[in-house]
Amino acid sequence: MGKGVIQSVLDFLFPPSCPVCRAYVEQLGDWCPACMKEAQQPHAILLPALSQRFIGAVWALGIYRGGLRSLIHALKYRKKRSALPCIASFLQASSFVLPEGVDVAVPVPLHEARYRQRGFNQVELIFGEWLSAHGITMEQALVRTRKTEPLYKMARQERRKSLQGAFSLASGADVRGKHILLLDDILTTGATLSGCAAVLCQAGAARVDALVFASDHR
Ligand SMILES: [Zn+2]
Repeated sequence: MGKGVIQSVLDFLFPPSCPVCRAYVEQLGDWCPACMKEAQQPHAILLPALSQRFIGAVWALGIYRGGLRSLIHALKYRKKRSALPCIASFLQASSFVLPEGVDVAVPVPLHEARYRQRGFNQVELIFGEWLSAHGITMEQALVRTRKTEPLYKMARQERRKSLQGAFSLASGADVRGKHILLLDDILTTGATLSGCAAVLCQAGAARVDALVFASDHR
């Protein structure tokens, strides 16, 4: 396929490069094969028993370090949507098989104030297109009712406390009898996922599994 003249000039001035090692690649969003291979580490995660009460399975597509970490940081904290093509090609290359029978995917919500400040929920931007290509729709079935301090500042116990009652069902959402795939960008302690899953189960969800883009669990 031929590229447009403008694209060719842009490629000459700013050649597309691997998001990790900066080697030149053919197209915007591509990774070099070596870095892509290293980043692809889909794995299941065992949460502590308390967190797992409401969650079936938890999976991560990669490890929260290196390329995945910098892509998430660029998108989330520097609002760089230019990270999205690299995220999209990472998802496309993933060997992860989505669980069967999922009725709807639900992103972990941001508090309204944080959403307004950032302008988007990064979880929706990361997973939206990929899931819809797999026939799974996303629904904002949860809202974050309390603004929590950044969790990385807190100890594990404090995190759990801070997240209690932080989420509730969005008005009009109906999750009764549904198999839900809960989505988040990163997983650290699992407190966020378990807080969300508890609300969904208490609202009648039949099953909640969770998928995160990257996890710091091995
Ligand atoms: Zn590379």
